[in-house]
Amino acid sequence: MKTLAAVLLFTTLPLSAQTANAPVNPKTAQAVHDSAIVIDTHADTTQRLVDENYDLADPLNGGQLNLDSAKKGNLGAEFFSIWVEPELYKGHYARRTLELIDAVYQQAAKHPDRMEMAFTAADIEKAHRDHKLAALMGIEGGHSIEDSLGLLRDYYRLGVRYMTLTWSNSLDWANSSGDEGKPGAPHNPDGLTPFGKQVVLEMNRLGMMVDISHVADDTFWAAIKTTRAPVIASHSSARALTDAPRNMTDDMLRAVARNGGVVQVNYYSAFISQAYRNASAAQEAEVQKATDDLKAKYAAKGKQLTYGDLEKLQRSYADKIPRPPLSALIDHIDHIAKVAGVDHVGLGSDFDGVSGQLPEGIDSAADLPKITAALLARGYSAEDCHKILGGNLLRVMRQVELVSRQMQQEKP
Ligand SMILES: [Zn+2]
Repeated sequence: MKTLAAVLLFTTLPLSAQTANAPVNPKTAQAVHDSAIVIDTHADTTQRLVDENYDLADPLNGGQLNLDSAKKGNLGAEFFSIWVEPELYKGHYARRTLELIDAVYQQAAKHPDRMEMAFTAADIEKAHRDHKLAALMGIEGGHSIEDSLGLLRDYYRLGVRYMTLTWSNSLDWANSSGDEGKPGAPHNPDGLTPFGKQVVLEMNRLGMMVDISHVADDTFWAAIKTTRAPVIASHSSARALTDAPRNMTDDMLRAVARNGGVVQVNYYSAFISQAYRNASAAQEAEVQKATDDLKAKYAAKGKQLTYGDLEKLQRSYADKIPRPPLSALIDHIDHIAKVAGVDHVGLGSDFDGVSGQLPEGIDSAADLPKITAALLARGYSAEDCHKILGGNLLRVMRQVELVSRQMQQEKP
């Protein structure tokens, strides 16, 4: 009886529990990693390209993504974030959006032997065969479309393949987790207005992935109800482990699984470690004051504060808090794999968007093989690792492409 119970327990427990932290041959781990198409769905490196004139062939110089680190980490595809700071660029959202898009193309044009633009799942596979980094683009924040479905279609034409419905700012048509309940923030009682639902359906029709990272919970549920294609969370982690409004509850994880979508885990220390999050919250007032002071200093000189300037300042504070261990990140992947299923989890680093606040050992894209090694050590199979590393995202992309073709055949 005991044996039978043990067998039953063994077979019903998630993989990770079967062989927790079993030793894995480093060569095997490297081979598993190197045979995968590794896809990262969120890097904010685009800001550096525009604001710092950064070139992806340059040394990292404090950043987390360049061509060398991508090569070392066997990164097959990167979604470059097209993120427009809503205060700084008020009145010029489309202009800034277009400049960021252009910067990605410029890099691909400059380094044709090392990277190429990609727009479909098939393109990602082709770039992989060509041993080049596939460069894709995702808009972070629906304010980029300036309430225009025409602009949304233009961005699709330019190659944008996902859009988070909001960034940290709520819109007239969708709520954000970033300013929910704050005075002055717009709030839509249904999560999405009729126009917001139209945006979702038009994204489905175009073949642009609906990204629910950053949205408020009610907007998440409204989007899930509205969408006809699988959704993604391009860079979100699990709220059951780290209580951040940007993270996803277990109910949301299960809903994404039912929808066929994928949750790409964010590596940001304050999203993957409660201890780090608490320490960071304790600093908040001080950081805000320093930020305001710096802004005032710049304004007095007639200069504009860039994202890079802000990052530097935030980093100086973040560096005082001990980094969470790599296992914290793996815990989130593991949790989502358990709750939603191994077919519904992937990687969305948020490289160059989190002021270097990443778990121990993850300093750039070159460190991605460590994630594979840690997953194998927890008992994940090579096949599961390949799904997590990029296979799941490719599946979702293909499904989104299929739904788009079907919708375009429907009579308007
Ligand atoms: Zn973000």
